[in-house]
Amino acid sequence: MEVQKIFENNKKWVQHQLAIDTNYFKDMSKGQNPEILYIGCSDSRVTAEEMMGVGPGEAFVHRNIANMVPNTDLSAMSVIDYSLMHLKVNHVVVCGHYYCGGVKAAMQPKDLGILNPWLRNIRDVYRIHKDELNTIKDEDKKYKRLVELNVQEQCVNVIKTSEFQQAYNDRKVTVHGWVFDIHSGKLIDLKIDFEKILDQIREIYRLH
Ligand SMILES: [Zn+2]
Repeated sequence: MEVQKIFENNKKWVQHQLAIDTNYFKDMSKGQNPEILYIGCSDSRVTAEEMMGVGPGEAFVHRNIANMVPNTDLSAMSVIDYSLMHLKVNHVVVCGHYYCGGVKAAMQPKDLGILNPWLRNIRDVYRIHKDELNTIKDEDKKYKRLVELNVQEQCVNVIKTSEFQQAYNDRKVTVHGWVFDIHSGKLIDLKIDFEKILDQIREIYRLH
């Protein structure tokens, strides 16, 4: 794609939005009040807003390789803090996707340089769920299951934060784990029982 084409697209988009609502940008500049924090993968095939059918202002979005929520990542932690404490979102979504390159890379025993510390977080998920994963003989099924388990563990990482626990006590914020199926375009709800997880981890991770 030519970069210049992007500016032409933008011009058309502005005209299209103004044709629907002349105050569109005026209203948008007043501020944001999103209901959802979406944490997804940077993969170019998994668009956050488009596949959820939401427009500007409806979702606060954070994307990185393999939709991770590492405790020491200042970017992810700042996004969680700002969206839960200040924007007061009511739902946190962690959305993974099948055939995730980050998860695939973590499954290979290989030195990948600067990617090593990032992928280590996914390898840790593998280690935690090693018994289940090693019973799966089909490599493709194992890969897909690791994608799901990684989403689940990142939901646990959200639940471990002080911000989430405060927001849960204050207004019963919810956490959702989803997987985007690249083959069908469908979103799959992993139906993660976050309240049960919160209950189980409280003994060690209770901050509020
Ligand atoms: Zn991915």
